[in-house]
Amino acid sequence: METPLKNWLIGEFQRTGHRHESMSEASACDTCGTNFKRVERIYNERVKKNPELVKRPEPKRELSAKGAEMYNAMEFRLKNDPMYKWHLKTLAQGTASEKKKEWERWESGYYKKHNDFNLGKWR
Ligand SMILES: [Zn+2]
Repeated sequence: METPLKNWLIGEFQRTGHRHESMSEASACDTCGTNFKRVERIYNERVKKNPELVKRPEPKRELSAKGAEMYNAMEFRLKNDPMYKWHLKTLAQGTASEKKKEWERWESGYYKKHNDFNLGKWR
């Protein structure tokens, strides 16, 4: 949420000058309940007109150590293991029956048996 909108909201909620223990208590109060409904209506209108107001910034994610390790391992395999690359490509781009067949092949241990990615080739 953008800061001006947030500040406006806080200001509007403080407008009644009441202090309530909880939101449910506030909504039960005639003054605050009415105020809340009014603020909510204006808020919804403003957001509807300009959805950017409540757009969340994309969180910047750092890879965890474990994530970085997995990423590196995958990158290495994609560069050096044509069989793995072929496997992923089939899963991503194959037809439904090709995908099914590929999964069955994977599950059967075919790749463990036939692949040696350090060699970078089929064996
Ligand atoms: Zn009140």
